[in-house]
Amino acid sequence: MRAVQLVEWGKPPEIRHIDDPEPTGAELVLRVDAAGLCLSDIHVMDTAAGIFDYPLPLTLGHEAAGTVVGVGPSADASWLGRRVVVHGIWACRQCRNCVRGRENYCLRLARIPGEPLPRIGNGLGHHGGLAEKLLVPSDEVLVPTGDLDPGLAAPLADAGLTAFHAIRMNLDVVDESTVAVVIGVGGLGHMAVQILAALGVSTVIAVDQRPDARDLASALGCISAHPSVDEAHSVARGLGGADIVIDFAGAPSTVETSLGLLGPGGRLVVVGTAGGRVLVGKDLGLAQGWQVGAPFWGTRSDLTAVVELAAAGRMSAETVEFTLEDVPRAYELLRRGEVAGRAVVRP
Ligand code: NAD
Ligand code: ZN
Repeated sequence: MRAVQLVEWGKPPEIRHIDDPEPTGAELVLRVDAAGLCLSDIHVMDTAAGIFDYPLPLTLGHEAAGTVVGVGPSADASWLGRRVVVHGIWACRQCRNCVRGRENYCLRLARIPGEPLPRIGNGLGHHGGLAEKLLVPSDEVLVPTGDLDPGLAAPLADAGLTAFHAIRMNLDVVDESTVAVVIGVGGLGHMAVQILAALGVSTVIAVDQRPDARDLASALGCISAHPSVDEAHSVARGLGGADIVIDFAGAPSTVETSLGLLGPGGRLVVVGTAGGRVLVGKDLGLAQGWQVGAPFWGTRSDLTAVVELAAAGRMSAETVEFTLEDVPRAYELLRRGEVAGRAVVRP
């Protein structure tokens, strides 16, 4: 089968022909119907050797939707023929966080200072969904998608799930009167705007340096869209400050100034990883009771909730489609910020 593989750290991926996967034990094989591209893939590919404990060549793709076409001898054969999206966190399911249903914070997948980063799941240490077929460890990482178009289901696996989790962790400040700011209305951010709307939030201020991302934000119902955090300040201040600011850019120019957008008890949620830093201290002169968090991806039950929202037509991914052969070019467009919404591949 054809697969998009990272062959060497710091180099663009290659289209390669590899053997079809064969399921053993509780494993299942999916025919990949669609896979999404994420800016995180670029962060991974750009990394120097030795940082990630990932064996190369590695098939990329941590947003995968497909149809179950093979089951191992101890897997439940009733999955055959079902359409699913893959939860990309292949957790131990035994540690204290897994038992709490917080598999995204599985202790066995923890980053340990000074050690290579662990293998998390498809495309991130294990072979991913940018291929004709994908092997998954068990049905515990599958969420059925029913009639949902796979091209819309795939981006739910990360863009939708990460945005949902970032909001779900802060539900106590999310209601009809919430003032929210979404920074970076790209793959993840445009999902966040829709999830907030589905939760009743009608006051969302958008920030993005790209004009087409600001247009998308306005089309999705944001009350205003600004090219920089500084330019969003007066709107947020006029509304008493934000209850929640979700930063999907995570750049120095966004993270460092976004704390000033918060109203009393407000939350800064940092999702993007573009090198921004925040200084934490009680005497920064900010509104009282501010909190900052850096959530990671999401739980399987979050993924189920996102699939339900999408199936109910309450959120959808703006997608641009590419062929498998086109993936290296699509990553270059993503790197240059030239993809509106999510890049999706139908292998
Ligand atoms: P994307 O490129 O589709 O979207 C990012 C958006 O931010 C773009 O529209 C871009 O124009 C905007 N932007 C970037 N820098 C900006 C700045 N300084 N000011 C204003 N706007 C700016 O990327 P994506 O796939 O949505 O990923 C977003 C980020 O989230 C990435 O850093 C990615 O690595 C990270 N991510 C984190 C998790 C997690 O679990 N924490 C999961 C997935 C992705
Ligand atoms: Zn665990």
